[in-house]
Amino acid sequence: MNTPAPATICILGGGQLARMMVLAGAPLGVHFQVVDTHADVCAAPLAPVTATRWDDLVTLGRLAAQAQVITFDYENVPAETARWLAGRSHVAPNPHALATAQDRLAEKTLFQKIGLPTAAFRAVNTRAELQQAIADIGAPAILKTRRMGYDGKGQYRLQSPQDADAAWAALGEPAALHGLILESLVAFDQEVSVIAVRNRGGDFRPWPLTRNHHVGGILSMSIAPAAVPDTLVQAAFAHARKLAEALDYVGVFALELFVRGSELLGNEMAPRVHNSGHWTLDGAVTSQFENHIRAILDLPLGDTTARCPSAMFNWIGELPNAAAFLATPDTHWHAYDKAARPGRKVGHATVCAPDQAELQSRLQQLAKRMDLHAKVAPLLT
Ligand code: AMP
Repeated sequence: MNTPAPATICILGGGQLARMMVLAGAPLGVHFQVVDTHADVCAAPLAPVTATRWDDLVTLGRLAAQAQVITFDYENVPAETARWLAGRSHVAPNPHALATAQDRLAEKTLFQKIGLPTAAFRAVNTRAELQQAIADIGAPAILKTRRMGYDGKGQYRLQSPQDADAAWAALGEPAALHGLILESLVAFDQEVSVIAVRNRGGDFRPWPLTRNHHVGGILSMSIAPAAVPDTLVQAAFAHARKLAEALDYVGVFALELFVRGSELLGNEMAPRVHNSGHWTLDGAVTSQFENHIRAILDLPLGDTTARCPSAMFNWIGELPNAAAFLATPDTHWHAYDKAARPGRKVGHATVCAPDQAELQSRLQQLAKRMDLHAKVAPLLT
C-alpha cells in the first residue's frame, strides 16, 4: 500500500500566527514552507523559511508549485501577488477576501451591504475632503489609514474639528498613497469578536463569542465565552456567516464588533487566524489554528465548542515570569521566541476554569500574584 505524500502548506508571513499554525499542523502530518521578507522570523525554528520580496514572483511561483495550498500569516501580502499565485495554485483565503480586508473602506462598505451596521464613515483623500467629512459626521472621530494599519497604528483621534490640521499633519502623507477613512468615534460598551471557520463545502462554525480589551489600540486581554445576551451572540454569528458567504471565504477569520446597548457595529475583519482566538488553543475542543489547516486542506472541520471558560493575556514588550503564572491551575504558556521590544507581542498565556466564577477567582489570584490588576480589571464582573 502506498502511503500518501504529506501535504505541504506554504504560509506567507512568518510571525507567531505562522508558528502556531505549524505547531497545530505537525500532528496532522502537514509539512510547511514559510515565506517572509526577513529570515529571522519566529516561525523559523519550526519550519523552513525563504526570505524574499512579495513581488519576487519567480521564487514565490517555485514555492507555490511545491505546495497544495498557500495561506497567510501576514494579511498585507499585496493582493496582486495573491492573485498571481491563485492562477497557479490553491490560495486560501481567496485573493478577493484578502483584498477586501486590506482596505478599511472596502471592508466597511461590504459590512453595510450585508446588513451589518458600522460607525458613520467617509473616504478622505485630501485636506478639503477631511473638512467635509468632519462637517458630515462630526467629532469626536478617528482618522485611519485605509491600508496597512494594525495594533492602533495609522490612526489619529480628533476630539473636535479644531484637531483637523494635526490629524492631517499626522496622516496626510499616507492619504496621498493609499487614502484615509474618517469614522465617528463609537461610545461602545464592549468590544467582541467572532472567530469562525468555513470550509470549501460551506460548513461554517463560529467559536463562542470572545470579549476583547484593548490598551492603546493593542489587544491586551480576551475572555470567552463573552457574557452578552444570546440574541446578540446569535446576531454576531449571523453577520459573520453572511460575511464569509459573501466572500466565499475558506479558512479562519475574525470579525471585530462593537457592542453598544443592544446594537452591534462592525469594526473590521481579519482574513486569518486572530489574536483574540488564541484562547481556543487551550479552551476549545479544536483550536483556530487546527481548524484553519483542516479548512484549507479540505478536511472535516473540528468541533468549535468551548471546553471551559478561558481568559487570554497578551504579553507585550517582554515576557513576565512564567513560573508565577503557571502556579495557577489550568494555565498555559505560549512564548513566541521573540526578543523583547516595546510594543511587540512576544507571547500569550491562557487561564481556563471549570466555570465563570472559578475563572474570575483565578484571574483575581493572578492579578495579585503577578501585578496584573490593570490588565484584568476591565474583564472582572
Ligand atoms: P482598529 O485598528 O480599527 O481595530 O482599531 C483599534 C482599536 O481602536 C479598536 O479595537 C477600538 O478599541 C478602537 N477603535 C477603532 N475604531 C474605533 C471607533 N470608530 N470608535 C471607537 N473606538 C475605535
